Amino acid sequence: MCVSALRECFLNACGKSDPPRSPHRRLWITEILRAKRRRWGDERGVITLKKQPLRASIWIRLPLVLGMALGAACSNAGPSTPATEPSSGTEAQMPPPQVTIIPPPAASIASATVLLPSATIQPTPTVGPTVDPACVLFNANSDLLLPIVNRDSELSRDFEPPDLITPSLAYRNAYIVPIKIRQLVVEPLRKLFGAANEADLNIIAVSGYRSYEEQAVAYDKWQQRYPNRASTISAPPGHSEHQLGTAIDFSTSTMEEQYGELFHTDFFILPEGRWLYDNSAKFGFVLSYPAWAEKVTGYQWEPWHYRYVGVELAQYLVTYKMTLTEYVKQCAPTPTPQPTSLTHP
Ligand SMILES: [Zn+2]
Repeated sequence: MCVSALRECFLNACGKSDPPRSPHRRLWITEILRAKRRRWGDERGVITLKKQPLRASIWIRLPLVLGMALGAACSNAGPSTPATEPSSGTEAQMPPPQVTIIPPPAASIASATVLLPSATIQPTPTVGPTVDPACVLFNANSDLLLPIVNRDSELSRDFEPPDLITPSLAYRNAYIVPIKIRQLVVEPLRKLFGAANEADLNIIAVSGYRSYEEQAVAYDKWQQRYPNRASTISAPPGHSEHQLGTAIDFSTSTMEEQYGELFHTDFFILPEGRWLYDNSAKFGFVLSYPAWAEKVTGYQWEPWHYRYVGVELAQYLVTYKMTLTEYVKQCAPTPTPQPTSLTHP
């Protein structure tokens, strides 16, 4: 039965139904079986697999025999044709084995496009010059608040701040005389006066903006009074911060009575001088010529001369006990281009 079933299967695979059995083929198969029986010693002609020590070889040889039979069947069948019509019977109803030929990929290996995981290229961070965080205030300043004006750096004759006004500020004790200052200084000065008034202090803003010509007159006056040290007391024209319109000289109403002049170094020991020294930075003002920085500024101590630089920078300079000149040199070792009205030697 096994041989018969396999034979049917092979016949179907060859594309034809069971052909008429040829007597020659039967004799040929019978001879093969007889030869097997002689070899295995089975006189009954029954192949008993259990009795054969070499039964494994049967399964090896059997396909060969069946293959030969199939070959004979196929050779008689002629050219194979596809089995399009189902055969009758249970086995015949089984669909013939379908050989699906998978076409090769359209693209050959040589022409295949190798897709690699796309690498995400991260932009290389640009390494710029290291900026001192403290210099952010310097770089952000664009209101002409930080030009260095001293013996080595001067303002041109025609330099004049664009927003000069003559404010009117008067409190019970603190007030401003009719002077010009820049508009952006008025509000900070108003707040300073208000705080000083609450502290019951007598503070007067005596001097503000001075033009190049006005500074020349003041310098000549000091030259006549103190010819040997006028250069350390007063600045020649073009070298005074007062020309910026952001510098203010403070005094008190009693100063002139006590010391014979509006400005005296003893201002520092008076309550008004001490209060300004301790509190002016809160309103954006810093002392331009401290006693401890005469070598840096080139000017004698002037405890009455303050300059507006903004609250943040003023508090920074006070905290680190630094003059504006030192700060600017730190943040801009090479003088940066200034407005055309500013000239540097
Ligand atoms: Zn001054």
